[in-house]
Amino acid sequence: MTDAPSHLDSCITEVWELLERIGHETTDSPGITRAAWSRNEELAADLVRAFARRHGLQVLNDAFGNIQFLLPGVDPETPCVTTGSHLDSVPHGGNYDGLAGVAAGLAVLAAANAGPADRARPFRAVAMRCEESPWFGTAYLGSRLMLGLSTLDEIGDLVRSDSGKSLRQHIQNLGYPRTDGAAAPVLNSALVTSFLELHIEQGPLLEADGVPVGIATAVRGNVRFPDARCIGAYGHSAALPRRFRQDAVLAVAELALGLDGYWKDRIAQGDEDFVFTLGKFSTDAVQHAMTKVAGDVRFSLNIGAAVKTSLDEARTLLFDLIKGIENDRGVTFELGREVGTTPTRMDPALIALIEDGAGALGIATRRMPTVGHDAAMFVRAGIPSAVMLVRNANGSHNSDEALDREDFAGGVRVLGRAMHRLANAR
Ligand SMILES: [Zn+2]
Repeated sequence: MTDAPSHLDSCITEVWELLERIGHETTDSPGITRAAWSRNEELAADLVRAFARRHGLQVLNDAFGNIQFLLPGVDPETPCVTTGSHLDSVPHGGNYDGLAGVAAGLAVLAAANAGPADRARPFRAVAMRCEESPWFGTAYLGSRLMLGLSTLDEIGDLVRSDSGKSLRQHIQNLGYPRTDGAAAPVLNSALVTSFLELHIEQGPLLEADGVPVGIATAVRGNVRFPDARCIGAYGHSAALPRRFRQDAVLAVAELALGLDGYWKDRIAQGDEDFVFTLGKFSTDAVQHAMTKVAGDVRFSLNIGAAVKTSLDEARTLLFDLIKGIENDRGVTFELGREVGTTPTRMDPALIALIEDGAGALGIATRRMPTVGHDAAMFVRAGIPSAVMLVRNANGSHNSDEALDREDFAGGVRVLGRAMHRLANAR
């Protein structure tokens, strides 16, 4: 096995410049904006295509503007070890969420093209559109189309939040499908032997632990109640004794603290997987007053976990807590519609292979659950997948995202090593 380290190092330097350039050209202060199928996302696409061509790679566009990169002479219909991520960003986001994984893939392929051809299986890198949900109200549109999990007939009428134009119109406006260099219509499990995605970490864990690279065990699933409500009774804040109160604020607070207690117990048992958030919590602005016991609270509840049994357990606890609080406090909970997704497990063999390769390179790693990434769609398409998370000081989806060049370089080396090993696996 050869990692062609000198080629890879110089390619990392070049893709770092590419990252900086795209960030500069898509600046939208504060931060950067690359809306899905926008001019800015297309500008990023043009720059990565130009970079790939300069390095002698084949550049193929699918009918939706997702891009595939292959080494010269590789038949696009050949099964490949595949890597990549997305080009778009959230509004006023950071430069690296998504784009770092595209750049990492280009670095590995460009280095492989400059180095010895010592692979039994070829490489493919991909740059996908629209992973972020703000643009069309739902995530992963590019990868879903690319993998054939959704068709344009099914989702083409979705409307972009800022432009009012449909997905179909946006794709057409950028000139797709194009006649030159067409990629395979659908990238499926016959064409992708495994998928590795490098992505910046979106939380503070790696930074706090002093570990440069995380390896995702799963994409967290969730149980969500977007429009929950607790109904009590309004009353005089000074006159009403405690035993007569039906205080909706205290009831929801007790529910929140009950779930928080469960969370702390889980952590005490060494399980850092569970999360929950009451992102919305409000009394009725028309009726509430400092001198009134609150009779109505509306809230959202979002429970997440990487293991399905944890989600099931938390859901059971939620209903037990509610029953107890309703009895104690004389309130009624109406949780409203329930939505959610099941957790997506990353491939255990790939996790072990990446961990092993990082160890050999002297790069510390830790296993951790992660949030939604395009890799989840590859898993849904039946493709063994893994996500490498690179330390990022300030979280993502904000303009302060901060990727250290050396951390990025370490992540790319880990990615490259894993891809070379997969290319020569039996
Ligand atoms: Zn992302």
